[in-house]
Amino acid sequence: MTEGPAVNLNIRVRGLRQSATIAINDRSNALIAAGRSVYKLGLGQSPFPVPREVVDALRDNAERKDYLPVAGLPELRAAVADFHRRVDHVDVAAENVLVGPGSKELMFLLQLAYYGDLLVPAPCWVSYAPQARIIGRPVTFIPTRYEERWRLKPERLEEICADDPGRPRLLILNYPGNPDGSTYSATELQQLAEVAKRYKVVLLSDEIYGPLYHDEDEGHVSIAKYYPTGTIISSGLSKWCGAGGWRLGTFAFPPALRWLFKAMASAASETFTSTSAPIQCAAVTAFAGSDAIDAYLARSRRILAALGQWCCNALRRAGARIWEPRGAFYLLPDFSPMREHLEARDIRDDRELCRRALEETGVAFLPGADFGMWPQQLTARLAYVDFDGAAALDALEAGGDAPVDEEFLRAYCPKVIDGIEALCSWLKGK
Ligand code: GLU
Repeated sequence: MTEGPAVNLNIRVRGLRQSATIAINDRSNALIAAGRSVYKLGLGQSPFPVPREVVDALRDNAERKDYLPVAGLPELRAAVADFHRRVDHVDVAAENVLVGPGSKELMFLLQLAYYGDLLVPAPCWVSYAPQARIIGRPVTFIPTRYEERWRLKPERLEEICADDPGRPRLLILNYPGNPDGSTYSATELQQLAEVAKRYKVVLLSDEIYGPLYHDEDEGHVSIAKYYPTGTIISSGLSKWCGAGGWRLGTFAFPPALRWLFKAMASAASETFTSTSAPIQCAAVTAFAGSDAIDAYLARSRRILAALGQWCCNALRRAGARIWEPRGAFYLLPDFSPMREHLEARDIRDDRELCRRALEETGVAFLPGADFGMWPQQLTARLAYVDFDGAAALDALEAGGDAPVDEEFLRAYCPKVIDGIEALCSWLKGK
């Protein structure tokens, strides 16, 4: 069948391109297949393997073939509730946990079910706004500033809400964050929570990178602690459990938003029916946790922290301004201090920057424009994940968990190091 003319498409889908994270991965793979050497810093995919015991649980449950309840396997919903109590110190009831085929799908259903406007601080992950657009929800991007660590300020939220106080709104916060690896301090979360509570804003707290908060002692803090009645916590297996391709996401609702949980479950029953049974069984093991999973996470964090810091230092030396990463595996360098130098090379916006860098160095990464930034701001996202995470974890363990130094990074993350070095010399070049 041939594709119909664009005019026949629903206006909300017309002109919609493939999601940037997926497109850059396809493009990188096509270039590699064509014989090019590519440093894959585009798609934000965990470099680490799924923990052994979670893989074993999947194998043991491969024969589970029946549909499961739409909201999820009861044992998994209990394990997720327990995870949030144990890890985040937030009281979640198993009956208020919804399981879906990836948190991305749950976010889409949430926007479908909830009638409010969407508020998203920018920079933000690529898909929140396109999802709203498909559904026909108004989206307000709230621009943030480099000088403020790309954080949403409570005064700014207050200003937006005070403009029409009774208006229903959904605010999405993602921390540690994609695309910049930053997070919010407990005080900042508390202040944002106060404003959200005052205006009854529903908060979607995307904490999928929570267990990948680099600082072991400090630890990730959930805003649900400060606004328990209005916060939905989003998590899943894709990032901290290395299982993006398994597609399993979870939402934990407060009792006051039970009606929203029910509406989403009804919509789910008419769309995805239920999430893969073997994957849900394996997820019980992941969310239940164990000493081995804790050790896996601690090592993952140490490798990511050292590698992120190394990349950050190199990019600063090359002339970019950039905040140190605090979690996850992303950096958002701001190349505006190099504007004149780049303009002399006919690079005037972030898309051209990424296009030329890929062409001339083989480093694949994404323009800030895909994350809600102005193209002329000259920002870009680097996902420092192009390495064999299994080998790196094994080496760290075999070395008695010695500090992760540059020698280790060069030995186990060579493509990231080489890619960043290639990008830095290209940036400095004529
Ligand atoms: N969250 C990942 C990223 O930002 C990839 C998955 C996706 O976008 O669906 O690169």
